Amino acid sequence: MFIGQNKGLHLVITGAPGTGKGTQAGVLKREFGICHLSAGEMLRDEIRKGSEVGKKLEPLLAGGNFAPDELIIEMVSRRIEEADCANGFILDGFPRTIKQAEFLDGMLAEKGIKLDAVLEILVPDEIIVDRIMGRYTCVTCGENYSDKFHKPKVAGVCDICGGFKFSKRLDDTRETVEKRLVKYRDFTYPTISYYRDKGVLCSVDGNGTVDVVAARIDKLLNLKEHL
Ligand SMILES: [Zn+2]
Repeated sequence: MFIGQNKGLHLVITGAPGTGKGTQAGVLKREFGICHLSAGEMLRDEIRKGSEVGKKLEPLLAGGNFAPDELIIEMVSRRIEEADCANGFILDGFPRTIKQAEFLDGMLAEKGIKLDAVLEILVPDEIIVDRIMGRYTCVTCGENYSDKFHKPKVAGVCDICGGFKFSKRLDDTRETVEKRLVKYRDFTYPTISYYRDKGVLCSVDGNGTVDVVAARIDKLLNLKEHL
């Protein structure tokens, strides 16, 4: 019902930090061969590379703040032109504000792309805090794991790539998590109404294992019948 005329699948995944949206975006990426574009990862890449942009970003992100609009919008616009986005993409961590959502609409319209759906993942706050405190990422492929909710099948070995090096994000402290939740309510939550009004919003209960939530998403989007 949400699949548009444009070739490929073009999604936004949204929800408060720690709702598992990055993990679910990874599932959709593998299932449908679409590109997972995590705004956070793109920004952290800049920091890792030590670029000029990265140097400006590092203190901002470490303090729980977001990157400036202009910068992130330009990165996304450039990124979706790349070859690995030919089958479509799932945007994760962007747009975060109404202003960014409006800009995204304009940018996609220029490229002749229509968003097929915006997936909102819903998880209660107390579970979010637990999840974020216990999460870590495979250094090699970027897969996200969690002490309580999504451990690798073999301890210490990545399910996806077999890698054995993991990292925790420096900004995953209780203080910055709470700060990010407040920012989500203030700035990102209005984008939910924005997308609901446009008829593209799909809200899913994100409380459960990765597989259970992934099955809910498939059912909700009715993807398998369309691809
Ligand atoms: Zn891995």
